Amino acid sequence: MTCGRGKTRCGLHTSVAGGLGKMLGRAKALGEDAAQIFVKSNRRWEMPLLDEEEAENFRVGKKAQNLWVCAHAGYLINVAGDSATRRKSIHALAEEIRRAEELDLEALVVHCGSRGERVPAEARRRAMEGFCEALDKSQTCRIRIALENSAGQGSSMARDLAEWGELVAGLPGKRRAACLDTAHAFAAGYDLRTEAGRKHLFGKIQKEIGIENLVVIHANDSKTECGSGVDRHEHLGRGKIGGPGLRAFLREAWGGGIPRIGELPPGEREDRENLDFLQSNRPTS
Ligand SMILES: [Zn+2]
Ligand SMILES: [Zn+2]
Repeated sequence: MTCGRGKTRCGLHTSVAGGLGKMLGRAKALGEDAAQIFVKSNRRWEMPLLDEEEAENFRVGKKAQNLWVCAHAGYLINVAGDSATRRKSIHALAEEIRRAEELDLEALVVHCGSRGERVPAEARRRAMEGFCEALDKSQTCRIRIALENSAGQGSSMARDLAEWGELVAGLPGKRRAACLDTAHAFAAGYDLRTEAGRKHLFGKIQKEIGIENLVVIHANDSKTECGSGVDRHEHLGRGKIGGPGLRAFLREAWGGGIPRIGELPPGEREDRENLDFLQSNRPTS
């Protein structure tokens, strides 16, 4: 069963070094049918201009090789932050939303932000208003914003799936989406090694998010223990979740049709192995 979404696509976060054309080449050489990119440097505020021809070539090339692509927004963005950070974040996010739509991407994955010293409800309100403001400012009409669950490191929001759900629900209907990161869920206390743990997570997602809103899964193993609250990705099958748990999770029928993206340290051999892991563990039933 694939929940009407068709074949389950798999890929990795893929470098755009040398330009978007190079990225398409990398995806092809590796055999990806899904990929995630940064549309700008992930640790800087500034967004460089994009050559129109490069954008057009990317759109055409992506279609020709039948590649599903999402973007991950910059790590500095915190729409729940203090006034100055929040203003900068909304501005930067609006630019990224516009760029992602211009490139005809499927979704823009964004972190929910950190509450700092604020009470949770106030931080959530600031975040939700910030996301809506960024969408307005971007003057776009299509690209979906996929809010990602967190490991709960520092004061990052959306470790708790009810909180994640509330934030997702705060997005305007047509633009609403979510991204589940397996390493973050595991570090947040969802034990993907056991059938009971996987069932519990699925139930929570069904209740708080809605499977139809889950547009991408970040399939990562975790360097840290279940419930550690610490976000450290590990190559698939080599971390604390481990091969059996991850395989079982990835093969769950409910995840059929939802693209999986590995976000792991790059390397020629590692990329190959991680992609093989994903491709050989698509849902079968
Ligand atoms: Zn992320
Ligand atoms: Zn992630």
